[in-house]
Amino acid sequence: MEQKLFVYNTLTRKKEEFIPLDAPHVGMYVCGPTVYSDVHLGNCRTFISFDLIFRYLTHLGYKVRYVRNITDAGHLEGDADEGEDKVSKKARLSALEPMEIVQKYTVDFHEVMKTFNALPPSIEPTATGHIIEQIELVKAILDKGYAYEVDGSVYFDVEKYNQTQDYGILNGRKLEDMLNNTRTLGGQDQKHGKLDFALWIKAKPEHLMKWPSPWGVGFPGWHLECSAMSNKYLGHQFDIHGGGMDLMPTHHTNEIAQNVASCGNNPATYWLHTNMLTTNGQKMSKSLGNSFLPNELFNGTHPLLKKGYSPMVVRFFFLQASYRSTIDFSNEAIDAAESFYKRLSEAAKKLASLQQNALVAVDDEIESAIIAACEDCYNGMNDNFNSPKTLDALNNIAKQVNSFAGGTRNSGAIKAETFGRMKKTYNDFFFDVLGLKTEDSEGGDTDELMSLIITLRNQAKVNKDYATSDKIREGLKQIGFQLNDNKQGGTDWTKN
Ligand SMILES: [Zn+2]
Repeated sequence: MEQKLFVYNTLTRKKEEFIPLDAPHVGMYVCGPTVYSDVHLGNCRTFISFDLIFRYLTHLGYKVRYVRNITDAGHLEGDADEGEDKVSKKARLSALEPMEIVQKYTVDFHEVMKTFNALPPSIEPTATGHIIEQIELVKAILDKGYAYEVDGSVYFDVEKYNQTQDYGILNGRKLEDMLNNTRTLGGQDQKHGKLDFALWIKAKPEHLMKWPSPWGVGFPGWHLECSAMSNKYLGHQFDIHGGGMDLMPTHHTNEIAQNVASCGNNPATYWLHTNMLTTNGQKMSKSLGNSFLPNELFNGTHPLLKKGYSPMVVRFFFLQASYRSTIDFSNEAIDAAESFYKRLSEAAKKLASLQQNALVAVDDEIESAIIAACEDCYNGMNDNFNSPKTLDALNNIAKQVNSFAGGTRNSGAIKAETFGRMKKTYNDFFFDVLGLKTEDSEGGDTDELMSLIITLRNQAKVNKDYATSDKIREGLKQIGFQLNDNKQGGTDWTKN
């Protein structure tokens, strides 16, 4: 790609040109969900944002290894290493095995992501599947002298680390400032310093998920898993580390400290953070009763909603803001997103059957408007994945498509090459990059039927039964369903 991509890097607090360490390969790590309850909408927004980034990098020709973990152990209720493990607590309260909780909410999470048409990551490692790697990392940090053991627990020594490194490099804060804003250690605390955090925690006898270690039976601290798993799958240095903005001040700050302490470098070149959702101007939170679960939004069952919205409308609503901006939820805002989405979706359907008229003299105005709109699709995404700019550019193409389809403009008055470029750019961005589907392709039953048929066809292909896979494709084509094998190895479909 000749165009340059710029990304906002939290680490340097500025937009920088994206230059991968080992192009065309790109390594991207995103902190995944803690699977102890239904995924909330703020998390969905984060993962949809990184889905957009994954899709665009892939579209540009990069071979992206996208790692997004599942936190199934070690995430305690309190930020200062206190309280119960969230998964264990839910298991105790529900009288279930922790792994039953993990299974249920992992499956639910995947279903929600699929509903939003988010592609699965390349690797989805779990904390419990990487206990050995985490123990090795604790050992390495102890060996380098940046951690200490107290009665079966191991803590990271932040003040010692900060003597030679900058602990606040990501959050931009001075250590003194952070120390002044942290509660004083109590007499029972094993920690030496107020900012020290647990790498390994000794398990109480009643604790459900625990493993043997050189320091006794215990479990890993939450921050540790991301350092261990990113190291394992992306190496000591990779390109992008992402997550929600709320993870930046502590979780990501501690992750960097662990990596620097154990292997000498910050793991990622670019740190990307997604902003939060608000409802009618207020922060979304369970306690205020103004946060929605995805299903409440789809069914319109939440008291603050006047009706339900389809998953594609919600995805579109998210894409209408840059991932770094807050998004405010209101009935009016999502209604506006719905009509904008329908307009672009209609244009995608018209474009699918639009044939160019016989060529006549080129109308320079239409020709250059289409070329500019096609370029703007890229300009938007190249400016730190600015999806609202790209949606505006698609809207400009949609206007041309509508006037060609409606006959108010002659599609023969642009070059054949420009007509082809318009079609390709619109389809590339609407379907592949923004990950949208047209309205028709959303009916629940049709979606499920199509996914079953696509699975059967893929099975036929795996069995080298090309006669059957071709028969399925041709048969669907005859009744108006088009299958498209995408670059990510999956199959999309559209209906004419
Ligand atoms: Zn993480």
